[in-house]
Amino acid sequence: MIPTKAFAAQSPGAALTPFSFVRREPGEHDVVIDITHCGVCHTDLHFIRNDFGMSLYPLVPGHEIVGTVSRVGRQVKKFKPGDAAAVGCLVDSCRECAACKEGLEQHCQNGFVLTYSGLEKDGTTVTQGGYSSAIVVDERFVLTLPQTLARDKAAPLLCAGITTYSPLRRWKVGPGHKLGVIGLGGLGHMGVKFGRAFGAEVTVLSTSPSKRADAVRLGAHDFVVTTDAAQVEQVANRFDFILDTLSASHDYGTYIGMLKAGGTLICVGLPADPINVHSMNIVFTRRCIAGSLIGGLPETQEMLDYCGAHDITADVETIPIQQVNDAYERMLRSDVKYRFVIDMASLT
Ligand code: NAP
Ligand code: ZN
Ligand code: ZN
Repeated sequence: MIPTKAFAAQSPGAALTPFSFVRREPGEHDVVIDITHCGVCHTDLHFIRNDFGMSLYPLVPGHEIVGTVSRVGRQVKKFKPGDAAAVGCLVDSCRECAACKEGLEQHCQNGFVLTYSGLEKDGTTVTQGGYSSAIVVDERFVLTLPQTLARDKAAPLLCAGITTYSPLRRWKVGPGHKLGVIGLGGLGHMGVKFGRAFGAEVTVLSTSPSKRADAVRLGAHDFVVTTDAAQVEQVANRFDFILDTLSASHDYGTYIGMLKAGGTLICVGLPADPINVHSMNIVFTRRCIAGSLIGGLPETQEMLDYCGAHDITADVETIPIQQVNDAYERMLRSDVKYRFVIDMASLT
């Protein structure tokens, strides 16, 4: 067994505190990764607070994991000790259903295994995430990190990156399209970078007027303060696509009104309240409301390779793990520039 240091929440909403546990000995197909960096996703906070009613405690969050391979099982083909490796939101799935066969493990019909607060295939071992010194994962669920990418800045690609890359690819967002991105946080700032890289005209739709200069620096062509009714009015019927990354409840009608006829609101944020939209708002304009969940393993690797080739990474604020509870407070105040990443060397 592999003794592992970590930070964990012991109960719903609790502050994270030091915690020790053991990882399994690597099986034939397993890769042991010494974690160097882990991004802080808003989903980590949703899980700590049990917002989705599925959290298991003690809970070690973290699914934007980057590190160095320290050991591999006998059958492992893709990795050797010393390689840079990465793990995202999933560590297993059934591998046999139609979705898994298509490389859409995030839609596994028999249930995927989340990187934390999931159950391993033995049905009893609770998975623990990347705010920890090491992780053991089947190589099928381990990604290759392009050598050229700085590890701290690359870590957020494993969730914020793929969650924004995947829908923009699926809807073929590109030249000639007007893309709105709601919320300039961890996901939102990656949505801006990818939207710009894919050739769309990007507008940030933000509640924070102070983020205007950053939005432009990140690649946005335009910036709208969504608490200003006059600015909202100016972008009515404008966008082909809007990527909605808001973590908190909001009025969807406001944003749907910004779509052209036939435009699509792509929801990736996970607020607690239902999506409440008047039928007239979509029927008369054949606007669409869609969702998107992270991405499968092949597309996640494709995204990492794309980022390696185009030098795309997250804008990060690197913190020692002892500051993670403060980072959550700042995240709740929309004060993230634009992803916290934990330097795991601080976990002593
Ligand atoms: P984040 O870094 O906290 O960013 C959220 C942004 O939303 C904020 O920076 C802020 O941007 C805006 N916002 C507006 N009102 C807010 C409020 N009352 N409270 C907090 N933020 C507010 O979060 P994230 O990590 O990007 O995650 C965003 C959401 O996506 C979360 O619900 C998360 O669970 C979900 N998520 C979904 C997937 C998926 O696969 N679908 C994957 C990862 C995360 P402005 O200041 O610009 O308004
Ligand atoms: Zn995430
Ligand atoms: Zn499956």
